[in-house]
Amino acid sequence: MDIEKLKLEVRQGVESSEQKLIQLSLKIHDNPELGFKEEKAAAWLTSYLEDEGFHVERGLAGLPTAFQATYGQESPRIALLAEYDALPKLGHACGHNIIGVSAVGAGVAAKHAVDQLGGTIVVMGTPGEEVLGGKIDLVKTGAFKEVDVAMIVHPDTRNMPTEEALACSTLEVEFFGRAAHAAGQPHKGINALDAMVLAFTSINSLRQHIRGDARIHGIITDGGEAPNIVPAHSAATFMVRALDDDYLAELNHRVLDCFTGASMASGARLEYRWKDRTYAPMKNNMTLAGLFKQNLESLGRNVEDFDRRSGMGSTDMGNVSQVVPSIHPTIAIAPHEVLLHSPEFATATVSEAGHDALLDATKAMAMTVVDILQSGVIDRIRQEFCDG
Ligand SMILES: [Zn+2]
Ligand SMILES: [Zn+2]
Repeated sequence: MDIEKLKLEVRQGVESSEQKLIQLSLKIHDNPELGFKEEKAAAWLTSYLEDEGFHVERGLAGLPTAFQATYGQESPRIALLAEYDALPKLGHACGHNIIGVSAVGAGVAAKHAVDQLGGTIVVMGTPGEEVLGGKIDLVKTGAFKEVDVAMIVHPDTRNMPTEEALACSTLEVEFFGRAAHAAGQPHKGINALDAMVLAFTSINSLRQHIRGDARIHGIITDGGEAPNIVPAHSAATFMVRALDDDYLAELNHRVLDCFTGASMASGARLEYRWKDRTYAPMKNNMTLAGLFKQNLESLGRNVEDFDRRSGMGSTDMGNVSQVVPSIHPTIAIAPHEVLLHSPEFATATVSEAGHDALLDATKAMAMTVVDILQSGVIDRIRQEFCDG
């Protein structure tokens, strides 16, 4: 089997469904749905896969908008991950319309490779990436148990074969004080907002003495009812991020100390809850990344190495990468100055450059499937995963 010929054929497969893929991306962009509520997007993507001969299972791990679509029966099982959740008010400002459609398009194009070489394609629909961490539930319930390798491509302002991601935990805190007339009897009140402000100040001080790649950020979600009432209740949500799980655990502890200290100083009682979905750091499989990079370059794209200075977020793909050899490369849809999670980025996902990126991401993933199905490749990918 001529590998270059096969790659050319899967590329042509993507080209022949170009208009359908662009229409699907536009439709998801125009109908943004928040995490775990992506009913339309999941329905459109699964019906497309079903029409293309995939066996579709809707709803996984108790998440109605998760899905799994399978083509083939043999090993290796190659997972292409789709995301399709949007951001509040900003719509598809993270470009998950491109992620969803590229995974589905690549799966459909790669059927041809499976017909020739064996193996199985699993297009996995993974909802609620932004803050809900749907993949964490999928990992926990064993959805990746039979999977040998996983790929996802994220839109960005650079083409990069890998992307690092920070481990991330979320803390919800509340302070309970005592309401009183703020002028008449302030000495009888306990100020829950003061407790929160003290905690913010402590965290600001802490922030100067943490590693450069760690992040602590939060918002106050309740700061009292009226200026003439001593606030009896305050609430906030904080996110703590670090490059590895050990440092994250250390920071979690220090952040919590800031709230405990503020509770003691103010007299307001503290209640807190760590969200049970913690995002893991990204473990990039460099063998797989190298193959993807070559394919993306063969499409005429300039691929840069990941640079931490360009910034790091967190992704639930990190959790997948801890159990299955994975990559999370990026594809450029806009110039460097356009910011992720901005209205301009949402527009870029459906621009000419956005559509080009969608098609290139789809092709590069389908071509990488051809590489993975060559003899010995999956063993090298696995070996690196086990050694790492
Ligand atoms: Zn995203
Ligand atoms: Zn995002």
